[in-house]
Amino acid sequence: MSFSELGLSPKVLAAVEASGYTQPTPIQAAAIPHVLDKRDVLGIAQTGTGKTASFTLPMLTRLEQGRARARMPRTLILEPTRELAAQVEESFVKYGVNHKLSVALLIGGVSFGDQDAKLTRGVDVLIATPGRLLDHFERGRLLLTGIEILVIDEADRMLDMGFIPDIERICKLIPPKRQTLFFSATMPPEITRLTQQFLKNPERIEV
Ligand code: AMP
Repeated sequence: MSFSELGLSPKVLAAVEASGYTQPTPIQAAAIPHVLDKRDVLGIAQTGTGKTASFTLPMLTRLEQGRARARMPRTLILEPTRELAAQVEESFVKYGVNHKLSVALLIGGVSFGDQDAKLTRGVDVLIATPGRLLDHFERGRLLLTGIEILVIDEADRMLDMGFIPDIERICKLIPPKRQTLFFSATMPPEITRLTQQFLKNPERIEV
């Protein structure tokens, strides 16, 4: 299996090549075609499996299609910790090197000023921790009605950290016609319930 067989765009394939990757990992080979097909995905995978690229690469290809209305955010990636959110932003910037996309990292522990300024200028992609995302929403700084793809990453860690009510709130703020990509290393009952509530006929991938 090679990356060129998965349906990714030339811009994304060029970034993959520049990253030095020669072959997709199992989760990438399994997930990428479904993400491109606009299917919901339930990925049961640990960190280190290449999970981040399995959703960012097809997301970048999808973002080349269609156009944002007034640069409203089109995708939202939720991470349980600031560190993970920052790592995913770094990967997104690396894989999106050939795209002119604006990415906002919305995490706690830093002032609202720079994040607000970025949101005012307009962004395509939000990478956020749940609490800070809701803070921005409550301050009236954020419209989530243009979100086409929602990623909930590390769901079992979200559960450990008490973020499930926030996740449920955020899921309800985003139009239901979205595509949802959901990743968790383990599937405790609370997480299974969440997937039943918010995923539509998901493609289940376990690596
Ligand atoms: P992740 O599981 O997304 O945290 O990725 C783990 C590490 O694997 C990261 O350092 C990536 O840069 C790297 N990686 C992701 N996909 C590939 C690939 N197809 N080939 C080689 N390395 C990869």
